Amino acid sequence: MPPFALLQALNVTWRDPLEIAVVAWLFYRLLLLIRGTRALQMLGGVGVLALTYTVARLLDLTMISYLLGIVFTYGAFALLVIFQPELRAALANLGPARMARVFRRLEGGEVLDEIVDAIERLSRSGVGAIIVIEREVPLSDYVESGTALDAKVSADLLTTIFTPYSPLHDGAVIIRGDVIIGASCILPLSQSMTLDRALGTRHRAAIGLTEESDALVVVISEERASISLAVGGRLQANLTPLQVRDLLAGREPRATAEYVVPQPLRR
Ligand code: ATP
Ligand code: MG
Repeated sequence: MPPFALLQALNVTWRDPLEIAVVAWLFYRLLLLIRGTRALQMLGGVGVLALTYTVARLLDLTMISYLLGIVFTYGAFALLVIFQPELRAALANLGPARMARVFRRLEGGEVLDEIVDAIERLSRSGVGAIIVIEREVPLSDYVESGTALDAKVSADLLTTIFTPYSPLHDGAVIIRGDVIIGASCILPLSQSMTLDRALGTRHRAAIGLTEESDALVVVISEERASISLAVGGRLQANLTPLQVRDLLAGREPRATAEYVVPQPLRR
């Protein structure tokens, strides 16, 4: 048999390595996406069901395999519903803009200065706050849960909104470009089980939104007056206003900040 005869018999073309590479890359991204999430735990459950199904088929246990067959048919739809947030984030990540840019810089230093000024004032006076900065994924749905606004970003306005007893102080402010588009907005709480138990709902809401979108979320703790930044399902805690400024501008922070959630960035 001449060398490579087997390969020739397999009819390998340039398409095959290409397809293998693309599929391998897709699987790799999928694994990165589900690492450390509910999906991984559910995968174990699905595995047990699949094993039971196989055994039932082998032993000819018709009723069990019939019932499990139904579970699998409708289970596919259930998975779509259960993983809707993850799927939404994954699809948003596929967008061309997303691929071209790892960390978009906040345009206009002025807006950034106002936001950082507000963060500094809020943390100094120990006022709790969530400031969301929208990037590629539109956050209009979350604006609907609160009060829609159309006001230019300013440190005075941000601190006024979060002042205790102001009607809009509860919930999050959402910023698009240089405009505050919403206040008092309710964000989805993170369901992650790897989070520090000491984190309250404010911090969980900040992390939750970044699991479903590419937003940057700054949290100021009322209890500890500390400043944190959530991105991609991960929270960086105990930042200084200057460090937040660096991170929001897409730069490395000036000194290492403490990472409280040992979970890799998913993107
Ligand atoms: P802090 O360190 O400021 O105490 P925390 O993480 O311990 O924050 P809580 O003490 O539970 O959280 O903070 C409650 C406040 O967080 C609420 O008054 C509200 O303003 C805000 N908050 C809670 N849940 C949400 C949510 N789903 N979306 C937006 N804001 C929320
Ligand atoms: Mg609290």
